[in-house]
Amino acid sequence: MPELPEVETIRRGLAARLTGARIEGIEQRRAALRFPLPERLAARLVGRRTVGFDRRAKYLLASLDDGWTLLLHLGMSGRLVLDGPPRGPHEHLTFRFAGGTVLRLVDPRRFGAVDLWPSGRLGEHPLLRGLGFEPLEPGFDAALLQGLLQVRRVALKSALMDQRLVVGVGNIYANEALFRDRLSPRRLALTVGPERAARLARAIREVLEAAIAKGGTTLRDYVQANGELGSFQNDFLVYEREGEPCPACGRPIRRIVLAGRATYFCSRCQR
Ligand SMILES: [Zn+2]
Repeated sequence: MPELPEVETIRRGLAARLTGARIEGIEQRRAALRFPLPERLAARLVGRRTVGFDRRAKYLLASLDDGWTLLLHLGMSGRLVLDGPPRGPHEHLTFRFAGGTVLRLVDPRRFGAVDLWPSGRLGEHPLLRGLGFEPLEPGFDAALLQGLLQVRRVALKSALMDQRLVVGVGNIYANEALFRDRLSPRRLALTVGPERAARLARAIREVLEAAIAKGGTTLRDYVQANGELGSFQNDFLVYEREGEPCPACGRPIRRIVLAGRATYFCSRCQR
């Protein structure tokens, strides 16, 4: 599943290639993905120019010159592919831009979403309005994170992955950030004090930014906007490293299941 670093990588790729580009043609091959596609989608998009590409959590937001925003979510298996040949039966939507650039939305499992929404009211969109804080925004600091955690009587890792609190900290990045701050994933969220919260906020940002710098994680069937593969999985310290020595103390990394998700940690270093 594309995570925040992958989506941010795609956003940057799209912004670099397509900001200001005019949509010349749309080919739509399905009426619905996870939800019905907007009515008259092609008619509403053809002739429009993109103004900018933003991101909220894992939603890509392409603002258009008519005051509307095209919202894209890649679901479980979605990919956006720039140029290259057609991608077969799972290519559900094709954008043709002036100058010849082609953008293909490919989504075998069809959990993705496409919508059009007024740009000035994006915060009211049903998929966006309940979302928590952006960990890469400047306001994400110790006080904010501790405030979110201090009332949560749940495992710290589960709280970090709760999209109503903080968006985009998926399973991989929660595991990696907790190891970097030497915090146990099983510790109750409300036991994290101000100093640990400051280090944890920094660790979350660092692990996400490191993944973005490597072009995302690319675990399986995923290609980023320029068609290259990300390589952050080579830098995992604990994720999917059960039994391998802890990079800090040498003890074997443990794997447990916490709230249904595979959890990797060092029981000596992480408290
Ligand atoms: Zn250790």
